[in-house]
Amino acid sequence: MVFPPGLQILFPETEIAATVGRLASEISRDYRKKTPLFIAILKGSFIFLADLIRQLDFPMELDFIIACSYGKGTETSGEVKILHEPRISAKGRHVVVIEDIADTGLTTAAVVEHLKKQKPASLKLCVLLDKRERRLLPVKIDYLGLTVPNKFLVGYGLDCDEKYRNLPDVYVLDEKCQTQ
Ligand code: 5GP
Ligand code: MG
Repeated sequence: MVFPPGLQILFPETEIAATVGRLASEISRDYRKKTPLFIAILKGSFIFLADLIRQLDFPMELDFIIACSYGKGTETSGEVKILHEPRISAKGRHVVVIEDIADTGLTTAAVVEHLKKQKPASLKLCVLLDKRERRLLPVKIDYLGLTVPNKFLVGYGLDCDEKYRNLPDVYVLDEKCQTQ
């Protein structure tokens, strides 16, 4: 494959697929009889989510939440807003939150706190990529894919200014992600 200019490959799609397969096994082991409610944090997690749930062969439900801490560039604003609420209530449910990447931890921490107010029966967190060097708030990741360096990543759902989400691999962006 010809890699796009300005991008360095970090994880080829084969490695991502193996990781997603492992996470699906771990989640299957724990949730097979619980009809879990998956709540995915949009937009970045959508490809990860689609690959993950197609490997689950037991009943589950799915909804979405939109939380925003980033502006258009690479710097986090520090404030997290819930822009879209899930329609399915988390009350009494076994909830698994699906996130593409944990960076400062602000988004995940805010989403977890927000959903806990609905009194789920249990709440766990599944994160594909962990940029733990950048953490500002502690986040307990129950199902972790891969630990990543402190670089700005794109591909497999992750964007720079809405571009690159469609790339099947995960890349490091050479340049800073500039807003247009
Ligand atoms: P946090 O609140 O943990 O700082 O950031 C979480 C969100 O920031 C992620 O869901 C993702 O949307 C965005 N983010 C963090 N690191 C990266 C990165 O390296 N690349 C991209 N494209 N988005 C990132
Ligand atoms: Mg995200």
